[in-house]
Amino acid sequence: MSKSKMLKPPVTAILTVALVAAIIACAVIFLIMNNRIRALNDMLVKSQAYSAQIDGQLNDLKKEYETLKDDYAELERTKAEQKNAKVVYLTFDDGPSQNTEKILDILDSYNIKATFFVIGKEGGYAAEICRRIITDGHVAGNHTYSHKYEEIYSSPDAFWNQYQKNDDVFFEITGRHLSILRFPGGSNNTVSQRYCNGIMDVLTKQAQQKGIVYFDWNVSSLDAEKKVQDTQVIINSVLSGVKDKQTSIVLMHDNNTKKTTVEALPVIIEQLKSQGYIFKTLDENTPPIQFLK
Ligand SMILES: [Zn+2]
Repeated sequence: MSKSKMLKPPVTAILTVALVAAIIACAVIFLIMNNRIRALNDMLVKSQAYSAQIDGQLNDLKKEYETLKDDYAELERTKAEQKNAKVVYLTFDDGPSQNTEKILDILDSYNIKATFFVIGKEGGYAAEICRRIITDGHVAGNHTYSHKYEEIYSSPDAFWNQYQKNDDVFFEITGRHLSILRFPGGSNNTVSQRYCNGIMDVLTKQAQQKGIVYFDWNVSSLDAEKKVQDTQVIINSVLSGVKDKQTSIVLMHDNNTKKTTVEALPVIIEQLKSQGYIFKTLDENTPPIQFLK
């Protein structure tokens, strides 16, 4: 055997080593690639889940948007209806009385607010009623303290004293002023002439100078035409009175004898509601209805 032939490694051995090295290299590359693919796959799964979550949120937002759009359309419809609706102002004069609570209960059951032109009645019960008128969200107006024509219409000073006294008493009980006025008998009453000629002209002008808004009415319930008016007459008077009027100020009375007014009230409210009328309360900004200007 020659020396050079002994030192040369056999070709097969070299090829084997090279093959093993290649296999190891391939295995390492495969492992690295496999890990990389797994990582990418995980990222893909996560991004798909995130995308599904975003889609879900988007759907929720779309639903919310649709609901809000419907609510807004409904509000616009209600606003338009209210703008065109016929308005009724129910007003009750001469309380508080033993019937006021019943009236308040009825108004409450229909969720309707009204205006009470109160007179000065002292005592625990009257005070309780005055407070409830306010806490129930109704409006109280001034109808003078005594309501006695011979007293209030004896002179302008006497009238304003009675006006002020009523407000003082009411303020003491409720902490609220009687900001609007209804003249007993209305601004064009003629009974006052017996006690002071021309007094209504003076009083209505003075009210304007003082910035006091007074309200008469354009619908009468006729509940003061008799001591106890027939319930059906009251219902018919109001319903026929408000017909064809865009705005109605309805005169009713709240005193101990006016039981039929209380009886008529739920029927009147139900009828008017079913005909689309809405109910509001008077305040200084309501366009007034005045017999004498
Ligand atoms: Zn009165």
